[in-house]
Amino acid sequence: MTVEIKNKTYLNFINGEWKESESGDIQASLNPAARDEIVGYVQMSTKEEADKAVAAAKEAQKAWRKLAGSERGAFLYKAADILEKKTNEIAECMTREMGKTLPEAKGETARGVALLRYYAGEGMRKVGDVIPSTDSQALMFTSRVPLGVVGVITPWNFPVAIPIWKMAPALIYGNTVVLKPAQEAAVTAAKVIECFEEAGLPKGVVNFVTGSGSVIGQALTDHPDVNGITFTGSNSVGKGIGQAALARGAKYQLEMGGKNPVIVAADADLDLAVEATISGAFRSTGQKCTATSRVIVEAEVFEDFKDRLVAKTKAITIGNGLKDGIWLGPCASEGQMKTVLSYIEIGKQEGARLLTGGNQLTSEGYEKGYFVEPTIFDNVTSSMKIAQEEIFGPVIALIQVNSLEDGLSIANDVQYGLSASIFTRNISSMLSFIEEMEAGLVRINAESAGVELQAPFGGMKQSSSHSREQGEAAKEFFTSIKTVFVK
Ligand code: NAP
Ligand code: MG
Repeated sequence: MTVEIKNKTYLNFINGEWKESESGDIQASLNPAARDEIVGYVQMSTKEEADKAVAAAKEAQKAWRKLAGSERGAFLYKAADILEKKTNEIAECMTREMGKTLPEAKGETARGVALLRYYAGEGMRKVGDVIPSTDSQALMFTSRVPLGVVGVITPWNFPVAIPIWKMAPALIYGNTVVLKPAQEAAVTAAKVIECFEEAGLPKGVVNFVTGSGSVIGQALTDHPDVNGITFTGSNSVGKGIGQAALARGAKYQLEMGGKNPVIVAADADLDLAVEATISGAFRSTGQKCTATSRVIVEAEVFEDFKDRLVAKTKAITIGNGLKDGIWLGPCASEGQMKTVLSYIEIGKQEGARLLTGGNQLTSEGYEKGYFVEPTIFDNVTSSMKIAQEEIFGPVIALIQVNSLEDGLSIANDVQYGLSASIFTRNISSMLSFIEEMEAGLVRINAESAGVELQAPFGGMKQSSSHSREQGEAAKEFFTSIKTVFVK
């Protein structure tokens, strides 16, 4: 690696300029695989700096919205090319900063490139319909107009893909943006912003302010000139943002937690089900909103499935995600690791049986990181906390059922409804699952954690504000419909 990413201080990007915060405060972003390694320092900004970024975005939007969609698209194509060229640098930074393995980080960066290209193309696609008027002398049509300034608040688990899947559609439809990334992955997010800068976007179109969520995120949420807020993160923070946005009449979009089930039917291809469960539950150390956390298995195949799952889990290689051959990285932070360990304790106290894992790794090579063994419980009942609450770590709760009907009702017995999978060869089981499952993403014979950028993404129940992101669905959020009547 030629790129120096150690000990570098990253600045805010406001009105086309990189600036230190007036607070004079910076915060170190640490490597969760080796906590004595500083990935970079980021600014602890003030509310006034968030306000300046909003003012810059508001001013820039006047000209940005007047460009042809294809002209805005040209900037996104450029940003995509730059991001693609920097894949290795950015992926390595992501692995150092939040721990996911390098192949996963490269995959996520490639997803960012594809998202930019997809939305660049949207600049040439239709944004309205002609509707026949009852007046034969009139022309009636709809047009889509930008919201104005969009506040983008993102989590640390996909520090490249989530900011891009929000910013790219916001920009292509003529909005300008202020990004407030999660502080825990703000260096990686800064590198994404550098791609937009290098692509030559007009000043003020993309702004970037780091700092605490309760200061900068709150400032964006409450600002009268922020017309839309798009948020991904936890339910507690999301609900507060939704309420504040509603109170002042701003448009908002919330993507929040999950407690995603996999159902394994007695007729499933068990090898496939085991493979997909491991991938869905443990990739990114279980820190995906779509990660598998409950595995509901029909009694006839329970023992067989369990034995295969445990054997495969025991073979998982754990370590620093930059190293070859490592499959599972650390939890992204100390706080995240403590949460995971506390849920493991809760699971034991609730009477679930620990089949494998359950511990923090502290032996040589692990002592400086936040490593937790991939963990599987059985004897889990649906009312247990480990079957109800989002853990956001490498923990599976195995639940045995006597029928698929029972399996479905347990699958639905949570407040969340993001993604869900079933493994079966039976078409009527598939169809009942598609029909009955209360989730925004239902997947058959595939892991719960797959997402394609050209399709709508989002949850039901408490997983989302019922809006959808990505694909064409993004247009719904990032524009307002104007109905035009011309006589
Ligand atoms: P989080 O703590 O809710 O933080 C998300 C973002 O909100 C961060 O940028 C955070 O800033 C900011 N924030 C915190 N308090 C705020 C406030 N009062 N006002 C405005 N913004 C505020 O979530 P996280 O721990 O980063 O991410 C994990 C969660 O994200 C999980 O629940 C996961 O399920 C969810 N997630 C959902 C999806 C989805 O699409 N449904 C995708 C990925 C993750 P700081 O943290 O920097 O202070
Ligand atoms: Mg957080």
